[in-house]
Amino acid sequence: MSEPKYKRVMLKLSGESLAGANGFGIDFTVATRIAKEIKELVDMGVEVGAVIGAGNIWRGREGSGMDRVTADNMGMLATCINALALQNSLEDLGIETRVQSAIEMREIAEPFIRRRAVRHLEKGRVVIFAAGSGNPYFTTDTAAALRAAEIDAECILLAKKVDGVYNCDPNLHADAVKYDHLTYRDVMEQDLKVMDITAITLCKDNDIPIIVFGLDGEGNIRKAIEGKSNGTIIDSQEL
Ligand code: UDP
Repeated sequence: MSEPKYKRVMLKLSGESLAGANGFGIDFTVATRIAKEIKELVDMGVEVGAVIGAGNIWRGREGSGMDRVTADNMGMLATCINALALQNSLEDLGIETRVQSAIEMREIAEPFIRRRAVRHLEKGRVVIFAAGSGNPYFTTDTAAALRAAEIDAECILLAKKVDGVYNCDPNLHADAVKYDHLTYRDVMEQDLKVMDITAITLCKDNDIPIIVFGLDGEGNIRKAIEGKSNGTIIDSQEL
């Protein structure tokens, strides 16, 4: 096992990554597989923060006809369900985990307290940041960028269904080309669908590199942290 390139990371998982083949709900076989991958990082001494989406349960903007704020509140609550599922899978493997929620629910999760989150990380606990940013009209990508900046994460590991950033959708275009490297500016100017603009802007302003990689395939999270991912790196360097 080679040396990790980063000491503290923020892992962003989409809600769909927890779903089974039907794309909905939580498949605990899948959750366990992800937990095992996270354990590899913890065993390497990497401090891991995680943000998980809710697309497997509910997305506010898809709540057709609903009041947007209510729909987004439902989305944020759905991220808490996923966070507890991931916590359970991690703890089954003996990994100490804390869920910190941006919306208070003290009986279930700690409130988000930055200094406490950092202390947990220093003690080797995985901290799952639930309820997004706590505000409607945002995404969990933005929450991941925000929390990454707050906890001084050295990079965001952006786990996707696709194995990197392409010039067009590789599922629709056989000739789609994958980028090895992009700047934040490239992503914005070319309107590449990696993260929403708010999230990218936060990463750019705080100089947090984003490693985009495919979650399918064994050891991909570890490879990303070892700098061996064949995904896409997004940072400020004009090559
Ligand atoms: N959400 C929100 N504020 C946040 C983060 C999330 O309102 O700070 C809501 C929003 O409705 C969003 C849903 O939670 O659609 C789930 O998050 P997201 O769509 O980012 O999940 P993913 O696509 O990563 O599974």
